[in-house]
Amino acid sequence: MSSSSGTPPSTPVKEERCSSTTTTNVTNPKSPEQQIGDTFQEIHRRKYMKLAYGIDLNDVKNEEDLEKALDETGTGTAVSTKRLTPAKWKHRVHGLKYWKTGDGNFKNIKEFRQAYSDCKNLRNGSREQVVQTNGEGTDLLYKVTRNKRTGEIEKKRVVHILETFDIIQEKHTSMCHPLSDSTKIHIDSTGFHNITRAEVKAFCDTCPTCIKFKK
Ligand SMILES: [Zn+2]
Repeated sequence: MSSSSGTPPSTPVKEERCSSTTTTNVTNPKSPEQQIGDTFQEIHRRKYMKLAYGIDLNDVKNEEDLEKALDETGTGTAVSTKRLTPAKWKHRVHGLKYWKTGDGNFKNIKEFRQAYSDCKNLRNGSREQVVQTNGEGTDLLYKVTRNKRTGEIEKKRVVHILETFDIIQEKHTSMCHPLSDSTKIHIDSTGFHNITRAEVKAFCDTCPTCIKFKK
């Protein structure tokens, strides 16, 4: 039973700013509070997609619609050459993953490499990227860089634009909603290559908690 002693539902307190709304426990049904949190999160996601990429998720019914909208839009604040759509990301991952062996869908490896020729320059040198499969069998794409001072190899995640919201959200809320610049530094330092300043700013500018606490 509740141990509440008749206190009315409180007005928002400072701590709320740090409460997490990103619970993803699939074995337990979500509480009404979590469901409301999810709803706010989806509203935030829509605002973010609109501001950052000029995409209205209400108009997007499937992956094809999304690619079309992303190709056409030029109005988002975060539209840049670094932008990877899910289809471009998947193409790159596939090309890199099967570069040495071919994927069996072409007559020979030469034809496969022709179809994925845009992946060639990502094989070596300053543009090098690699695919690694994690413990759950998910392919992840990384940019490889050599630290000039230490000579160590560093790998940073290369993500597509449907992944940016969740990643920024996790980093931003885990730090209790810092300003955009601090959020961006935190994201970079935790191993992400292509989440841009403009994307982080679009996230923070549409974050309901940040808006509420902004004076
Ligand atoms: Zn925030």
